[in-house]
Amino acid sequence: MSSLSRSGGVSSRCEAISSPIADDEPPPLCDVATPRRLCSDSWNDWRWQIRHRIRTVQQLVTRFPSLQHASDLSPVMGKYPLAITPYYASLIRRADKTDPIFQMCVPQLAELNDPPFLSSDPLEECHDMPVPGLVHRYPDRALLIATTTCSTYCRHCTRKRVAGTRETTISKRRLEQTVAYLREHPEIHDVIVSGGDPLTLSTEHLEEVLASLRQVPSVQIIRIGTRVPVVLPQRITEDLCAMLRKYHPIWINTHFNHPYEITPESSEACTRLADAGVPLGNQSVLLRGVNDQPQIIEQLCRKLVSIRVRPYYLYQCDLVRGVEHFRTPLSRGIEIMEYLRGRLSGLAIPTFVVDAPHGGGKIPVLPTYVVSQSPTQTVLRNYEGMLIAYPEPQDRIAEPVDAPSDVSAPSVWDLAAGHHSHIKPAQATRLMRREAHCSVGPLPETF
Ligand code: SF4
Repeated sequence: MSSLSRSGGVSSRCEAISSPIADDEPPPLCDVATPRRLCSDSWNDWRWQIRHRIRTVQQLVTRFPSLQHASDLSPVMGKYPLAITPYYASLIRRADKTDPIFQMCVPQLAELNDPPFLSSDPLEECHDMPVPGLVHRYPDRALLIATTTCSTYCRHCTRKRVAGTRETTISKRRLEQTVAYLREHPEIHDVIVSGGDPLTLSTEHLEEVLASLRQVPSVQIIRIGTRVPVVLPQRITEDLCAMLRKYHPIWINTHFNHPYEITPESSEACTRLADAGVPLGNQSVLLRGVNDQPQIIEQLCRKLVSIRVRPYYLYQCDLVRGVEHFRTPLSRGIEIMEYLRGRLSGLAIPTFVVDAPHGGGKIPVLPTYVVSQSPTQTVLRNYEGMLIAYPEPQDRIAEPVDAPSDVSAPSVWDLAAGHHSHIKPAQATRLMRREAHCSVGPLPETF
């Protein structure tokens, strides 16, 4: 983005707010409701952002006066804390549930409506903790909860049971216990530093964690899971990046859910990390009323790639208490994946996963592309609906399939039997374009 300053601080708030806004959308409320003093150096100071988070109903109403007649949110906040950085609050365009940013950070009474099949720890992380705060589920990986603090508490958080209920960080003793466990388990090559949000730790404290993990020779990769580039991009300072560089290979997975979150500030934060040699991935959650439209996910993925962030996972909402109002049917995720294939390059398409209850781990869920199989052919479907027979290796074919075929109307069976190689949909844009080109003659073999 042209307005970004690569060497200076994060772009000023006044410049920054215009870019991500579609022509027919109202601007963020910052334009009309934020005092001019916010367009100052303080705005770009991440500690100032943390100190000035919205934390109470009163502060919320002061910031969004239209909420003064809303239902009393105190019971929700008594259970699940509220925190919104001034930066993230400034991305809200309408102070109501039609706004995706509002939905993701402002408490709603619906958080108290829990069907019986939800639990506070649906992934059963607490059952896989050999050391408090260290989740060891997969053979070669472990996840360390380094803090329970976040700069902004996402209403859809899967760790609502810990995030912000007490704002604590990992103690020296706990870190030593973690390192001891990792030394005893050299099969663990990959440690994910998570939370809460580990980038809310001071740079010094985070360095202690990373340096301790680096003492364990079998730990090859350190990953950091953070929503800071989205909700507090000012935190991605040159100092932080210089510190991270010392502990490579470091990977970061961040958590953008909506294209409105990709602003000049968040783009600048990702640029800094990428320039520091940190590969960036993104883990989105599919949220009803926020991003459950195929076009929104398409736009999000396009924008992520443009800021050097690889869309990695699209999660089905976990069966966690307090988030039922965000859950979509599983079929919605499959529809979205069907829409993305063919419209986006593979680089920009995340894997849609269900993080299975009972600690079952991530299960990829895809539209069905294998239509049928015989010993000789596998029938595949492409994104246009074209059916294609893919022949199996000749030396492994048991016996030829012999059956009558109706050549006037080939079916999937004809493909599986090897009588036809493909079935084309009549209306596919690509094929009609190809036919139009053929009518003006074949392309030359050399260009
Ligand atoms: S930043 Fe992460 S851990 Fe914190 S509330 Fe949001 S989703 Fe949960």
